[in-house]
Amino acid sequence: MMPSMFEAELAPNDANYVPLSPVSFLKRAAHIYPDRDAVIHGSRRYSYRQLHQRSRCLASALERVGVQRGDRVAVLAPNVPELLEAHYGVPGAGAVLVSINIRLEAHSIAFILRHSAAKVLICDREFSATVRQALSLLESRPLVIDIDDAQALGGELIGELDYEAFLAQGDARRALSLPENEWQSIALNYTSGTTGDPKGVLLHHRGAYLNACAGALIFQLGPRSVYLWTLPMFHCNGWSHTWAVTLCGGTHVCLRKVQTTSIYTAIAEHGVTHMSAAPVVMSMLIHAEQQFEHRAGQPVAVITGGAAPPSAVIAAMEARGFSITHAYGMTESYGPSTLCMWQPGLDELPLEARAQFMGRQGVAHPMLEEATVLDVESGQPVPADGVTLGELVVRGNTVMKGYLNNASATRAAFADGWLHTGDLAVLHADGYVEIKDRSKDIIISGGENISSLEIEEVLYQHPAVIEAAVVARPDPHWGETPHAFVTLRADAATSVGVDELVLWCRQRLAHFKAPRHVSLVDLPKTATGKIQKFVLREWAKAPQEVPCQIEH
Ligand code: ADP
Repeated sequence: MMPSMFEAELAPNDANYVPLSPVSFLKRAAHIYPDRDAVIHGSRRYSYRQLHQRSRCLASALERVGVQRGDRVAVLAPNVPELLEAHYGVPGAGAVLVSINIRLEAHSIAFILRHSAAKVLICDREFSATVRQALSLLESRPLVIDIDDAQALGGELIGELDYEAFLAQGDARRALSLPENEWQSIALNYTSGTTGDPKGVLLHHRGAYLNACAGALIFQLGPRSVYLWTLPMFHCNGWSHTWAVTLCGGTHVCLRKVQTTSIYTAIAEHGVTHMSAAPVVMSMLIHAEQQFEHRAGQPVAVITGGAAPPSAVIAAMEARGFSITHAYGMTESYGPSTLCMWQPGLDELPLEARAQFMGRQGVAHPMLEEATVLDVESGQPVPADGVTLGELVVRGNTVMKGYLNNASATRAAFADGWLHTGDLAVLHADGYVEIKDRSKDIIISGGENISSLEIEEVLYQHPAVIEAAVVARPDPHWGETPHAFVTLRADAATSVGVDELVLWCRQRLAHFKAPRHVSLVDLPKTATGKIQKFVLREWAKAPQEVPCQIEH
């Protein structure tokens, strides 16, 4: 079709079209709040002027060592200022940021470095032993830059250069570049590989910009916000909060290690207003000895997600003065893609009922076009009856470009014009979705579906339970039966037995759903605090190998 006269005349120009990129946020924050604290890390503090300068030096230094548009730059670091700077300096040099999970073993790190063909690796001293081993597995070594953080525990400098010396090679006058095209990649994030080989999720500047705006909106971030980095920045770019907090001129408070004492101390010391926490972190906070009176008197808004938060955990956090928002998402969707939006009348509900509602994954995040539940066989929408199970699918501008060098996985993920999440959910009459399980986690017993989350929800209501995870255990008669793995409070370890937990479930669940096997264990977790159900499935298959278990 010929363009209409108006379109032909009114093509985008420099005055009315700028590629969307969150790199612009830093420029703006530095202009408005040059002297405001942008980053706090122990005794180190950088103003927005300094964060901007340091990020420009990083972009310039990368360019000087030959990094070009589209090249990958990897960073392996906990939540330290350098990783935040990389979220601006790397894309500001036109390159693609690959943030690597610090808890990966050498083999996986090597896989990511090889697969992404990273030209530069910036890594924190504390992880040097594993990184050195990973580098030895590579055919060609990237340029290695050390982060020599004063708070790092041990480790050695293994790089060609120290990060500060590297920055000193850069020119702070070099402006951060915007992409020529907003579809250009900003980040390459690797999935945890719980469902096979890690996949490289490519994200574009446009999606990062939009999801950061959406995050700032729903989290109500502003220039007075003080954001505590309890969520790893390396996980989905910290759910886009690495960019959202800067957009609003808030302060980033770094935290190297997620420990309850350091969280409560940071809240009190810096007047933290916002943080994000996986449900396991919330459980830690609830059961910690140190409590919330240490905070500076203001409510702390918490976005939880990454795994389904049991309603008992939401209720306990709310009762302690945290204000919870529940979001759901994946690496493939820049972090949050649905959230449990507030509704009129919610505040008047009793806490338990409110927490029950807030446990739903909810509705499409702002800037996402649509989130719905489709029948797995027919691909048709399931009825909004709160019962019929289907796959949660999403579509919109905050969905990844695809997987790097993996056309078949990309095709499968995008079948029929939706991003398929692999999560099984129901759709409630009010349009809110609720996840019942990951498709591979659902338990099929005697032909009946059993939601592992439903059993976990009941276990978490037991006052002695800190954490619980339920998986399928092969059964010669039923096919599968639920096997619960539970961590008890230390003070209840001798008084509460597995019989009591089985009975607790039987009194609250249909008999066929109640776990027949319960093991008391420390739950294996990923770096982002997700319980590793694939490990538990192995344990359920070979109960004699479960560490420190008490078998029912
Ligand atoms: P990985 O697939 O490698 O674990 P992600 O961190 O992208 O990587 O995990 C996304 C998955 O986490 C989702 O598909 C879903 O199963 C789970 N998840 C995330 N947030 C929630 C939530 N709020 N409720 C239930 N499950 C969640």
